[in-house]
Amino acid sequence: MPEASSQRPVPALYTGALYVVATPIGHLGDISHRALAVLQGASRILAEDTRHSQKLLQHYGIDRPLVSLHEHNERQRIDRITEWLAAGETLALISDAGTPLISDPGYPLVAALVESGHRVVPVPGANAAVAALSVAGLPTDRFQFCGFAPVKAGARRTFLERLLAYTGTSVIYEAPRRIIDTLALLAELAPQRPLVLARELTKQFETVLRGSAQSVLQQVQADSDQCRGEMVLLIGGAEPQDQPSDRVDPDDLLLTLAGLLPPKQAAGEAARLLGVSKNLLYQRLLALRDDTR
Ligand code: SAM
Repeated sequence: MPEASSQRPVPALYTGALYVVATPIGHLGDISHRALAVLQGASRILAEDTRHSQKLLQHYGIDRPLVSLHEHNERQRIDRITEWLAAGETLALISDAGTPLISDPGYPLVAALVESGHRVVPVPGANAAVAALSVAGLPTDRFQFCGFAPVKAGARRTFLERLLAYTGTSVIYEAPRRIIDTLALLAELAPQRPLVLARELTKQFETVLRGSAQSVLQQVQADSDQCRGEMVLLIGGAEPQDQPSDRVDPDDLLLTLAGLLPPKQAAGEAARLLGVSKNLLYQRLLALRDDTR
């Protein structure tokens, strides 16, 4: 096994293994001694954007061959990577920021390597979702991470309606150009729900806004700087009374609403109350109607 160079004791690296290495989400100091040792000791570093990662590696005096691995070439690269591992190489995977695979490339590769019995080793570190949770002041005993909100307005509404039905804290990533729309939707659907918007974490303009959906929307509308940079949005959990009751039979609800409203509207209302996809309920309503004919 190759030895990584460092003044600290460094464990020998596995050969024929892929190390999944977390890198900083802003502050360059947020990288572990072990991550640096693994990067130094790897025979190649697979990087989402080699030019971007070069800056981090140069900062730490690490000079290893870089191979690009991003969402558009990742599947084609799997065979080659498997050959390198079979030849006894030690590989490291990094993304532009934070933990690879978390809203970042790497999943097809890791899934393929797990399937083919290769060793995959985590080197944990920065992650924007967990960093945001750690300072949000929202419950952390149960949370769900849902990645980026869908771009299309209809899909985004359904996505947020589902999150709003969850009783733990929901964590999502959002693009600056869509944050106002997302906050406005949340303020419409659940104006009093606690939200936290964590922006530019670990960087110079780090800001954490807290308040009800309505208040966070107003804070962002009042200061255009709050729409800049990278951001994590956290949504406080639903109170039990906001939850669809277990005693409500979804079919009964659908049929009752369908007696009062046109079918698509009935499915939409039921979707909102049950936190289930409107399309799914619409199809279910059509099936129920077929059954009763
Ligand atoms: N793999 C990364 C991780 O572990 O967090 C996430 C990569 S994803 C492509 C990039 C998104 O993560 C950004 O759009 C933003 O939502 C969030 N993010 C990354 N760095 C951040 C930071 N410093 N502050 C707030 N959010 C950040």
